[in-house]
Amino acid sequence: MNPCFFCDTTGGTILFNCDLYRIIFIDLETDYPGFIRIVLNKHVKEVSDLNDADALNLFKAVLASEKIIRNVYNPDKINVASLGNVTPHVHWHIIPRFIADKHYPNPIWGEITHPEYIPTKEIIAAKDKLIQQFINFTI
Ligand SMILES: [Zn+2]
Repeated sequence: MNPCFFCDTTGGTILFNCDLYRIIFIDLETDYPGFIRIVLNKHVKEVSDLNDADALNLFKAVLASEKIIRNVYNPDKINVASLGNVTPHVHWHIIPRFIADKHYPNPIWGEITHPEYIPTKEIIAAKDKLIQQFINFTI
């Protein structure tokens, strides 16, 4: 098997972990505090390769995580993406977005629209609240 970032690393700070998936905080995305990923804990390329129960549980985790992100960050928009073109291992990106953020309204991987953007101290500090929210994570 080819090297896989999500098989070879945790991918970030683990906020929650269970047999099926882990939820990780993306420490390296300093422009986007609150960016989390939900990563399947086994190497599977497509969600439709999972059985229905696992796919449903994974999607419930996406929904529950989106609600937590909304509660903690109060963003202008939530972006939920499952691409996997670079790393074909089932995972979702959940990203709180703000109208003034570096790429808004583009995807965070798109053209920069606000190069001067720096997240506020409040947004950066919300990481502690986010961690607390995932301590008792249930779906
Ligand atoms: Zn993998």
